[in-house]
Amino acid sequence: MSNLRVGLTGGIGSGKSTASGMLAQLGAVVIDADLIAREVVAPHTSGLAALVEAFGPGILQEDESLDRAALAGIVFTDPSQRAKLDAITHPRITALTQERFAAAPPGSIVVHDLALLTELGLQGGYDHVVVVDCPDELRVERLLDRGLTEADARSRIASQASRQDRLAIADTVLDNSGTLAELELQVDQLWALLQAQAQAQAQGSAG
Ligand code: ATP
Repeated sequence: MSNLRVGLTGGIGSGKSTASGMLAQLGAVVIDADLIAREVVAPHTSGLAALVEAFGPGILQEDESLDRAALAGIVFTDPSQRAKLDAITHPRITALTQERFAAAPPGSIVVHDLALLTELGLQGGYDHVVVVDCPDELRVERLLDRGLTEADARSRIASQASRQDRLAIADTVLDNSGTLAELELQVDQLWALLQAQAQAQAQGSAG
């Protein structure tokens, strides 16, 4: 029995992690792209060793973990350094993501929580694409609550795909402009839909 592959995306501060947490509670296997990106450069990995070889030991903190700010400082304004970083991290992220998809129990609904799904044009790789949508002003407000400055929140929002571009690839839109309870209700409905889709897919492949 194959798994149902669900892509979950949304702009920064839209509520992706909140929605994927609710889906996990309902029984989804969640693959968090942010966590995977951290895992591949965690201490004692080949990824971190490759970064040190490429950028020098100045990118390490005292405890030998990656100093993200130092690395960001190197790659931020230099596309060739950025390409070097991507050449090290991207294949590792892809491999570990595939490993996680493969490790999900047969018949699972697997949710890939990926902020840049739209920007990377990856929608074709999923059976169902979910977009968590939230007006930009509300996202700014929620990001302020999370400790970002307003300027930082706005520039991050501006650097990502537009709301329209995201909505254009959605099979389901979760409107997160209301309360958490309102989001939960939509997630419950989505879960029922995904279960039905998984079942139809299983019957289709069996018949
Ligand atoms: P990022 O891209 O930065 O990972 P995200 O899309 O995963 O963000 P969350 O972390 O889920 O977004 O939500 C952003 C913030 O808004 C969090 O502090 C979260 O608790 C809060 N939040 C999410 N949904 C709601 C809601 N419906 N009502 C109030 N606060 C919310």
